[in-house]
Amino acid sequence: MMEGPVCRVACGCYVLLAISIGAHCTISIDNLTCPSTLDPQTRPAAAPFVEANGPATMSIPMIACSSSLSEHNSNGSGINKNKQMVEQLQQYGVFSSKKVAEVMETVDRALFVPDGTPAYADSPMAIGYRATISAPHMHATCLQLLEQNLQPGMRALDVGSGTGYLTACFAIMVGSQGRAIGVEHIPELVASSIKNIERSAAAQLLKEGCLQVHVGDGREGWPEHAPYDAIHVGAAAPEIPQPLIDQLKPGGRMVIPVGKIFQDLNVVDKNLDGSVCIRSETAVRYVPLTSRDAQLKGY
Ligand code: SAH
Repeated sequence: MMEGPVCRVACGCYVLLAISIGAHCTISIDNLTCPSTLDPQTRPAAAPFVEANGPATMSIPMIACSSSLSEHNSNGSGINKNKQMVEQLQQYGVFSSKKVAEVMETVDRALFVPDGTPAYADSPMAIGYRATISAPHMHATCLQLLEQNLQPGMRALDVGSGTGYLTACFAIMVGSQGRAIGVEHIPELVASSIKNIERSAAAQLLKEGCLQVHVGDGREGWPEHAPYDAIHVGAAAPEIPQPLIDQLKPGGRMVIPVGKIFQDLNVVDKNLDGSVCIRSETAVRYVPLTSRDAQLKGY
């Protein structure tokens, strides 16, 4: 059951000026938190960027991108390239938050992408099982949208945690007094995400148990640690699952892509009286939030 009235607010993201930068890049400069993306998850590296029905579209030019885990390990330059990637996202106006920059610099993306793939390219990467790690600009966008709800001591739920990258970022932001819970329905991805996290700056939090990743159907949330201050959903739901609304704390915020072919990144704020307010931040394209069977069979 819905806990309270729902209001829908149109996206406050109007394109004031779109500048073309390079062959396939348009950038909206009206709203730093609204760098929309079409196909952030499935767009192949360096593919032409297709504009669709979103209020604004942006594609960051490819960031020096030949780095992989082997390079990260062999000469230690990976962490510098990771920093460069974060700086470029800031320069292109994807985000402005210092906290988001800090956490993205701390969690090296190369530890989360399959070895041999261009870790620092602003593009989603296939991770197997018809899943992808989201593009860095989508990670940055979602982190910034959730920043106020990822303060030390708060609780965060990451549905469709995939590689564990965002779960690790959430854990570092909420710290050892908080909780970051990942839920992913492909057991093999849960196992590999735990290995990724163990090599990352969030390893200690995993050890302490304040960062956990579970196998489960994320449409049910993870009631054991509810209510959550922040919920992130990394796959597109046909509609917002009620259990996720129920598990959001009053004052909490959920960021969730909603839709099938045309999708919006919805920001769901639960007011202190339990009512929820939903607005669309931008047009996106994510893999579906679905059953494990449907995903493995190709939706
Ligand atoms: N944020 C992740 C995104 C991974 S892609 C990252 O950047 O690494 C979306 C993920 O959602 C996939 O791993 C997919 O397996 C998972 N998923 C899809 N439907 C799900 C469901 N019902 N329950 C849990 N996970 C789901």
